[in-house]
Amino acid sequence: MSTAPKAFVVGHPIKHSRSPLIHGYWLCEHGLKGSYERVDVAPADFASFLRGFQGEGFRGGNVTIPHKQAAFQYADALTGRAKRLQAVNTLWIEDGRIHGDNTDELGFIASLDQALGSDWDQAARTALVLGAGGAARAVIAGLLDRGLERVVVANRTLERAQELTAFDPRRIEAAAWDKLTQALPEADLLVNTTSLGMDGQPPLILDLIALPDHAVVADIVYVPLETPLLAAARARGLRVVDGLGMLLHQAVPGFARWFGVTPEVTPALRAVIVADIERRA
Ligand code: NAP
Repeated sequence: MSTAPKAFVVGHPIKHSRSPLIHGYWLCEHGLKGSYERVDVAPADFASFLRGFQGEGFRGGNVTIPHKQAAFQYADALTGRAKRLQAVNTLWIEDGRIHGDNTDELGFIASLDQALGSDWDQAARTALVLGAGGAARAVIAGLLDRGLERVVVANRTLERAQELTAFDPRRIEAAAWDKLTQALPEADLLVNTTSLGMDGQPPLILDLIALPDHAVVADIVYVPLETPLLAAARARGLRVVDGLGMLLHQAVPGFARWFGVTPEVTPALRAVIVADIERRA
């Protein structure tokens, strides 16, 4: 007897995750039997959760804060993307083994392609990335893979930005946080990957006057959808990309693995999540 496929999102805490809404939307859109559930697991219990989820009927799931590095350590097999970022956000069972992938890079680049058109990179030589945490690694990897010539990483803790240059010392430069405005005139793309601007965090206040007129400003924070940085960029007449696209696109590969259908990121899906963000604001 075959049972309906089940997938999870595991984190701690997990109640604010929008992933169940995204995957629930796709299950419904494609008329699939199956479920996608939130599972709250404390760090001390994560290894035993990984050993046991298959026995509970799960085909796999998403992994979020604070378990992405632990999932990387415990997975039996890893994609090249997961190895490079040393973090896993998507798990599935294949040949009885736990496989791990990281789809954040793909999600970020797909969100730029969808928002700007896939030729956005033609006019993008230099990117200025703010932040050097886990999400920054995915963003930087995506920009390098897309062929950008230069990525300047500015971070409050300069050492973390300097560590990231090891990814590609020829193309990545570290910049001190208090010197980041010096990099603005050459930035074709500015990306905020810090938590500044997120609900409950201080805003990211930056004078964008020195950015070129053709520059694009992207923020991977998506609550609120229009961060103070994006509002300032819009007021300056620049093109902007919000963080919701990355969240939606990073979810696609997992859904395809667990439920067998490759879903699309459509305006209708986006509208559902935007309504949820506004409802909870
Ligand atoms: P993380 O690993 O904890 O990194 C946080 C980054 O923010 C670090 O670079 C940190 O600098 C910087 N930061 C924090 N507070 C700061 C402040 N007051 N001033 C200056 N810099 C500050 O977090 P993460 O996983 O990379 O996530 C970062 C943000 O991206 C979060 O808001 C998260 O929700 C968002 N995100 C969005 C998506 C999406 O799909 N749209 C995916 C992943 C993450 P230090 O190194 O100096 O501490």
